[in-house]
Amino acid sequence: MIHIKSKDEIEVMRKSALMVSATHTEIAKILKPGITTLSIDKLAETFIRDNGGVPSFKGYNGFPFTLCISINDVVVHGFPSAYELKDGDIISVDCGVYMNKFHGDSAYTFAIGDVRPEVLKLLRVTKESVYKGVAQACENNRVGDISFAVEQYTNREHGYGVVRELVGHGIGKQLHEDPQVPNYGKRGDGKKLREGMVLAIEPMINLGTREVHTEKDGWTVRTNDNKPSAHFEHTTWVRKGKGETLSSFVPIEAAERQNTELNSSHYGEPQPTVAVAG
Ligand code: MG
Ligand code: MG
Repeated sequence: MIHIKSKDEIEVMRKSALMVSATHTEIAKILKPGITTLSIDKLAETFIRDNGGVPSFKGYNGFPFTLCISINDVVVHGFPSAYELKDGDIISVDCGVYMNKFHGDSAYTFAIGDVRPEVLKLLRVTKESVYKGVAQACENNRVGDISFAVEQYTNREHGYGVVRELVGHGIGKQLHEDPQVPNYGKRGDGKKLREGMVLAIEPMINLGTREVHTEKDGWTVRTNDNKPSAHFEHTTWVRKGKGETLSSFVPIEAAERQNTELNSSHYGEPQPTVAVAG
């Protein structure tokens, strides 16, 4: 069943979604090689609870952590652990916050230090594809219009693998509500969109094959070819004319830039000129 939200409920949901964005922003400030993904999870849980929220994922279907942290070839649902971030890693951080009886849900993939240009491009295109989907999240369109826009941009224009086993979703009082929002599909297919629906639009895009598998822990989803995967997600309000994101990447991007500048003295240090003998 699809739940239509009132304008008042949308504003409550915006607070939950922006708390997710604020959590991502806190994470963006401290990311660097050497820190463990478990320490990121602890920081997120403390930040969310200090601000009056509850982590949506902790305990959801038995998931044991606040964040899903997925490194490199892990697509989604990775467990925070003692793993220390390395220069050149990418780290997808999926976060949900429950506040005032409504959930917000957003994901962001960060680059750690010096990441290969082809992987940085995967991150850029995946992030852009969220907005291709958001643009289609308007009244009288159908779910398939969102799906088609994401697949068109990531797969047909850029040749990336679009994960099919996992999909976006409606969101509200429940973390996962109807309808499902696949990242592949046909224009004009699926449920009709009405103003007041709220959808989590979340492309999971692979540099190589779209094929993925779930590991023995029952959660961790990894690419079959072990090439990297990116994940970006916005909680999105379906409106007349266009969709509107309730979560925001703007503060995350600002913190990312600051963090890069802060660490650039380390990463970008000019190398001493070495005289070659003979
Ligand atoms: Mg999510
Ligand atoms: Mg989601």
